[in-house]
Amino acid sequence: MSRSPSLSPQVQDRLLLRTEPWLSCEDCFELMDGFAEVLARDGQAGRAGVDLAMELHLRGCPGCFEEVESLVALLREDAAASRAAH
Ligand SMILES: [Zn+2]
Repeated sequence: MSRSPSLSPQVQDRLLLRTEPWLSCEDCFELMDGFAEVLARDGQAGRAGVDLAMELHLRGCPGCFEEVESLVALLREDAAASRAAH
């Protein structure tokens, strides 16, 4: 009776491809800049595929988590400073 709002097989495939079960710290560092930028600007992560993998990694990796946190703090300071300069 109820149709679950399931994703089409094509979309599921793409999500699975893009959401590798676990990023290595190296992968994490490569994606970190963009991830932190979106986080600093919007207050939340953007693209589901990358972000899910990132979030999973960050949950299990305090080192990368701290990196992202300090990056976001840095970007926010920059943004606040450039706003104040106007
Ligand atoms: Zn890591």
